[in-house]
Amino acid sequence: MKDTHTNIKHVTVLLSGGLLTTEKSREINRIAGKYDLTQYVTTAQNMRLLGANEENIEEVRKALVDKGFSLKAPGKFPMAKVCVGMPFCNLGLSDTFALADSLQEHYGGRTGVKPKFKISISGCPASCGGSLLADIGIIATRKGYDVYAGGKGGPLPRVGKKVAKGLTKEEVVGAVGRIADFHAARTPKKQRVFKLVDDRNFPFSI
Ligand code: SF4
Repeated sequence: MKDTHTNIKHVTVLLSGGLLTTEKSREINRIAGKYDLTQYVTTAQNMRLLGANEENIEEVRKALVDKGFSLKAPGKFPMAKVCVGMPFCNLGLSDTFALADSLQEHYGGRTGVKPKFKISISGCPASCGGSLLADIGIIATRKGYDVYAGGKGGPLPRVGKKVAKGLTKEEVVGAVGRIADFHAARTPKKQRVFKLVDDRNFPFSI
């Protein structure tokens, strides 16, 4: 029997920090309405439009790109998943959105990034951004940023290992770049960072 679901297409709009301005929201609503698509907020804080088909999927993609949206595609540097942070959370010690933007400014232009590489930022040790379960987890503390590596979710979750502590924002940006470089160099196709974190050449360890 033919699986009718195989012809259903979708497109994922990348949202830095999960943020959606009123103007962007209006545009997505308009395009979703025009093509009768359902909007799904993904667990990675992006917006997936469901229910396109082979005939209209390219038109949908073009309509979004023409309005300045960035779409999910293989090889793009991952946008960090973030908690709401300072000043929107009373416990926040860091502007998580600003740090996510800095990572995108530095690395967002990279291409050929291997899959299975996730980054998470939390504005305090409560870690609402799920930073202990990301390939690179960044957690703000009163003494600076701590960086974890090798966390993952899925059927066999693992807690990340703390590999640096008390970093400045600039040092965190540099650390993410070095870990990403190491991951890229040691990963032929796809690989979670937990398989690399105990390598004696891993760029950070405490
Ligand atoms: S991790 Fe901390 S700053 Fe972020 S939402 Fe949770 S309590 Fe607030």
